[in-house]
Amino acid sequence: MLLQKNKLLNIIITSILVWFTYAFLELRFNQRINAINDLELIIGRSANLTASWIGTQEVEKDIPILILAGHADSQGLAGAGTSGEAVDKYGENPMNPEISDELFWNLKLQESIVKVGKKRGLNIRSYDPGIRNIDDPNDPRTNWSVGKKFAENGGYAIEIHFDSYGKYGVGSGLIPPVFEVPNKIDESIARKFGRFPVLFRGGLGAPKRQIRILEIGKLEGSLEKNLRNIKTRQKTIKLLSNEIIQAFFNGMNNLSFSSNLMHYEEDTFVPEIYL
Ligand SMILES: [Zn+2]
Repeated sequence: MLLQKNKLLNIIITSILVWFTYAFLELRFNQRINAINDLELIIGRSANLTASWIGTQEVEKDIPILILAGHADSQGLAGAGTSGEAVDKYGENPMNPEISDELFWNLKLQESIVKVGKKRGLNIRSYDPGIRNIDDPNDPRTNWSVGKKFAENGGYAIEIHFDSYGKYGVGSGLIPPVFEVPNKIDESIARKFGRFPVLFRGGLGAPKRQIRILEIGKLEGSLEKNLRNIKTRQKTIKLLSNEIIQAFFNGMNNLSFSSNLMHYEEDTFVPEIYL
C-alpha cells in the first residue's frame, strides 16, 4: 500500500515537472518568435548599394498585380536560383530535390502573398509556368513573357527572389523597372526592403521587361532557419506576405513618405535607346 502511494506521488511529481518544463519551453519559444517580429531581424540586412531613385508615379487603387516566383521556369539551367546556405554550406537536404531551395521558398511565398492580398481586396494573382525548364526566355510561357505582357497592359508585375548567402548575395531590396519611372508602390516596397540601383548588373532580364524584382533577403542564417523550422515556417511566410501586402497598400494610398533623399539623374529610368 505504502509502495503504491509512493508510486502515485512519483507520478504526480513527474507530471508537474513535465508540465512546468513544457510551459517554460513554450514561453521561451514565444519570446523568441516575438523577438524576431521585426522585419530587419528576420530578413537580414538590405542591399548596401548606391541607389537613389525615388518612386513618384501615382498608382490606381485597383491596379492589377501579378506575383511571379523567381526561377520557376529555369531549373536545371544556370539560373536555377540559390540552393541556400543550409544545403550548400552545411550539407543539409534540399527542401525538394527537384528544384532549388530558392524556388521552393519563392513558390511558398508567392502563394501566401496572393492569398493575403486577395483577402484584403487587392486585384492580385499569380502565374506559375508549371514547366520547370524552358530554355528560351522569350518563350510565351515563361515568367518574363507573361510578366512583360501584364506590365504592357498597365499591370504591376513583380518577381520574388531570395538572394544567395554570404559573399555571393547582396541582401534585400527592390530592383525597379528599367524603362519606366518607378511608381509609389516601388517606393513603398523599397522603404521596407531596401533598394537596388536601376541598372543592377547592367539591367537584368526581368526589369528590362518592366517586371520588378524583389529580393526578400539572403537565404542564410536566421531567415533560412525560420523558414526550415516547421514550427516557425508558417509564421515567417505569413509575416513576409503581410509586410509585402502592406507595402502595396501604403503605395496605393499615397502615404506621404518623408522625402529628404536627393534625386540623382544617373539613377533614374533610362530610355531604351541607351541599352
Ligand atoms: Zn533568385
